[in-house]
Amino acid sequence: MHDILSIHWFRQDLRLTDNPSLYHAALRGRVLPVYILDERNAGEYRMGGANRWWLHHSLESLIRSLHGRLALFRGDALEILPALVRSSGAAAVHWNRCYEPWRIKRDTLLKEKLREMGIAAESFNGSLLWEPRQVRKADGTPYRVYTPYFRNGCLAAEPPRIPIPKPEKLDTASPPPESLPLEALGLLPRIRWNRQLEPHWTIGENGAAGRLTTFLLHGLDGYREGRDFPSRPNVSRLSPSLHFGELSPNQVWYGAKAAGSGRDLDHFLGELGWREFSYSLLHDNPGLPKMNLQHSFDRFPWTENPEALRRWQQGMTGYPIVDAGMRELWQTGYMHNRVRMIAGSFLVKNLLLHWREGEAWFSDCLADADLAINSASWQWIAGCGADAAPYFRIFNPVLQGRKFDPDGIYTRRFVPELSGLPDRYLFSPWEAPAGLQRSSGITPGPVYPAPLTGLEASRRRALDAYNSIRKKTES
Ligand SMILES: Cc1cc2nc3c(=O)[nH]c(=O)nc-3n(C[C@H](O)[C@H](O)[C@H](O)COP(=O)(O)OP(=O)(O)OC[C@H]3O[C@@H](n4cnc5c(N)ncnc54)[C@H](O)[C@@H]3O)c2cc1C
Repeated sequence: MHDILSIHWFRQDLRLTDNPSLYHAALRGRVLPVYILDERNAGEYRMGGANRWWLHHSLESLIRSLHGRLALFRGDALEILPALVRSSGAAAVHWNRCYEPWRIKRDTLLKEKLREMGIAAESFNGSLLWEPRQVRKADGTPYRVYTPYFRNGCLAAEPPRIPIPKPEKLDTASPPPESLPLEALGLLPRIRWNRQLEPHWTIGENGAAGRLTTFLLHGLDGYREGRDFPSRPNVSRLSPSLHFGELSPNQVWYGAKAAGSGRDLDHFLGELGWREFSYSLLHDNPGLPKMNLQHSFDRFPWTENPEALRRWQQGMTGYPIVDAGMRELWQTGYMHNRVRMIAGSFLVKNLLLHWREGEAWFSDCLADADLAINSASWQWIAGCGADAAPYFRIFNPVLQGRKFDPDGIYTRRFVPELSGLPDRYLFSPWEAPAGLQRSSGITPGPVYPAPLTGLEASRRRALDAYNSIRKKTES
């Protein structure tokens, strides 16, 4: 039996534990583990900089776990895998399914091609608690609103698969001679801006397991309330690991159920539900990354303002909580969820810049950048998504800062030039008396910018813009 060789194609499942495809390949016999950086089929959806940086280190860790036995390739998987099957004599190719439209298209073609060659092509669910086609309304159509999706769809369906262990015996084949060294994938940037991200993370399966344990011990209790406060330890920071599959949502789901209880647990499971919902939306609306789910927004009068966009990207809007978030993103490859919402609302509402500008910047800078979640979240923020938050819900960054960073720990960490200001003025430095601005070092000179736009005027402008599309829809 151990003469049978199967290829396990690693994709968004960079782990050995709870990996259904790898597990079943190992049961069949010897396994040739493979990773392919396929930018040919990804096209315009090729990974952004922070994703690439994370992937480099995650592969590095996986290579260590596999004692060097991971074959690496760069190019078109539709050509590489059939050629590898021929040269290695593999009888089967296994993978865990992915849900981005470009991947579905490629994987369907691949399955056909391999089956024509007489090769067993097997795919598994290793990345979602419930696959989109499992969760449907009674009439068979997809849900478009989160709460019924999660409550009536997911929670009423079969419970998620129980995690499986690492393969008991993993007999791996050596990489073929044409396998590339990791550096040849070219994932790290030439200008090493990524160095500043490195101290914030332990990347790979062990690092993810460690973050999960820390969260279950110290973050889950109090999650419901604490998750909104960016300086509290109540979020898991598991998103990049979930994106790359260094751990499965099943491990997180059942880990949380074993460790937590009550409303904190329910709320946390509900956030995992938002992840599922985003995937379901992308699956049923392949245009999600580009097209407003609510078509009335196709007429929305977005503005163009490269200077304002640049200041938002650089964390120089003059609104401290927005700037803290944008700098956290740049310095760590992550931004706390509450601050993502505040910074996102500021871009699309106060600056009236298109949500796709925000989506593109996050795609490049977030280590957890994820086509489904990022597009669904930006559409939600802009009010044009499936489960639209009312457009007129415009976050006030001053009040949000005071409420969710009341002692200013988070904001002072990322906007240190304001650290001398007392809490009272921290989120509205322009209101501080001139003498205080001078003594705390904000003035004179361009230390911290004046606000990019007035809050009240920009709020009114946003509401007018929204009313203009509503009127057109009604007339
Ligand atoms: C404008 C905007 C863009 C976003 N882009 C992304 C993105 O590209 N990738 C990404 O993973 N998340 C994205 N999110 C969702 C959310 O901000 C992150 O998932 C969360 O902050 C990750 O931190 P955590 O792991 O500590 O979360 P926790 O609070 O510990 O949650 C655990 C897990 O649940 C999931 N989750 C939590 N909140 C959400 C949510 N609102 N929507 C979907 N899933 C959620 C994530 O997988 C997360 O890792 C975005 C949110 C906004 C407002």
